Amino acid sequence: MPVQPAFSVPSIPFILFLAALLAGPVGYAQEAPATRPPNVIVVFADDLGYGDLGVFGHPTIRTPNLDRMALEGQKWTQFYAAASVCTPSRAGLMTGRLPIRSGMASSVNRVLFPDSHGGLPASEVTLAEQLKAAGYATGMVGKWHLGHQPEYLPVNHGFDDYFGIPYSNDMDLTRKLTAASGYWELWTREYKNLTPADFNVPLIRDTEVVERPADQRTLTRRYTEEAIRWVRDHKEGPFFMYLAHNLPHVPLFASEDFLGSSRRGLYGDVVEEIDHGMGLLLEMLREEGLDQNTIVVFTSDNGPWLPTEISGGTAGMLREGKGTTWEGGMREPTIFWGPAYVRPGVVMEMGSTMDLLPTFSAMAGVPLPQDRILDGVDLTPVLAGNGKSARNTMFYYRGSELYAVRLGPFKAHFITEAGYRRDTREEHGIPLLFNVEEDPSERFNIAEAHPEVLEAIRKLTAEHRAKMVRKPDQLKDRG
Ligand code: MG
Repeated sequence: MPVQPAFSVPSIPFILFLAALLAGPVGYAQEAPATRPPNVIVVFADDLGYGDLGVFGHPTIRTPNLDRMALEGQKWTQFYAAASVCTPSRAGLMTGRLPIRSGMASSVNRVLFPDSHGGLPASEVTLAEQLKAAGYATGMVGKWHLGHQPEYLPVNHGFDDYFGIPYSNDMDLTRKLTAASGYWELWTREYKNLTPADFNVPLIRDTEVVERPADQRTLTRRYTEEAIRWVRDHKEGPFFMYLAHNLPHVPLFASEDFLGSSRRGLYGDVVEEIDHGMGLLLEMLREEGLDQNTIVVFTSDNGPWLPTEISGGTAGMLREGKGTTWEGGMREPTIFWGPAYVRPGVVMEMGSTMDLLPTFSAMAGVPLPQDRILDGVDLTPVLAGNGKSARNTMFYYRGSELYAVRLGPFKAHFITEAGYRRDTREEHGIPLLFNVEEDPSERFNIAEAHPEVLEAIRKLTAEHRAKMVRKPDQLKDRG
């Protein structure tokens, strides 16, 4: 809106005087929003594909709040989860390390199950513990999936408060599967008849079960409300809220208000409810005057679960989905927002959920642990719009095996395999090579034309393997 000048153009000395007045006394400089540790909110969707948001190109799912967040902040087009399934992906986010280092990636069991014994080792340093060291209040709402035995729950990994389902919403299945309704048929043919009682998943507050089975129809709404309430309670800051939705992982459930809201069917309804929650969260930040000292990230833990067909999402133009080391398995629709810290734009630099720990540690002024290898880099310069990403590589593990490596725009696949069919595994004597910037769909193998690139990636991979230290497999023991 144009403002009528009330007086003639002021002189330069007057402007300097005014600027000094606004800046305040020198001793209070740390009060300026951009120089004090920001409040941090990380919102993590489950199995949301690269192509499932309006701003990432979905034609029939409306996500006006996330679209606006991307417009006011940064839309990242080459941002990766640490793995292509839930447990290892979340371990990577929490620790800033490849999940194989913490023992949270396994080729025996790909994720933790309700009868698993293990979890994230206490010796790992989590993002919550990092920020706690800088005086943050820390709260988590939603899906943890890094161990549900009491010693592994969020409240024993740096979070003051926890409310959520400790693993996936399709676990503790109570329904007897017949031959005619095998696992995939359940999602594709019977999904509209599924009820929350078919999944005996517990809803936990701190360490106590408060509801079982969790009423999943209201889960997204209640998670949003809980996160908003917690932030309001801690608005004096600094605070860290980790909101990890259980949805749109199947089984799909939406609250009454959103059933039938989308042209994309139930999956779209679920995503639109998550988007609505983002709108409420950002509105609350503005209302409370927290928008100038808070940074919000939205992303997803892995790609769409394609075998569930219409119940699963889409990776858009990216190849394959959840469970694979193709781009569709690990590249996520990612948005950073925070008017005081994030310069608006579309970012084509590489980033990863593993970078959040170093980035927010830098912003909070807390040193990184020096006794271990971190795989994350500090993305602060990219967020501020004054530098490039220090990330130039990505290591794509499936379970405990390294399948692919990215170096700059090039990605070499040593092994390829479809998400959920073991007989599709192929080892490549000469790796497949794609330029994923020119060819994001990984369609054109250019290995023959670029032996020098393959050589560089082989060298990088050998160095990576030589330095790899793995903790014992935390996912293998069950029953
Ligand atoms: Mg997932």
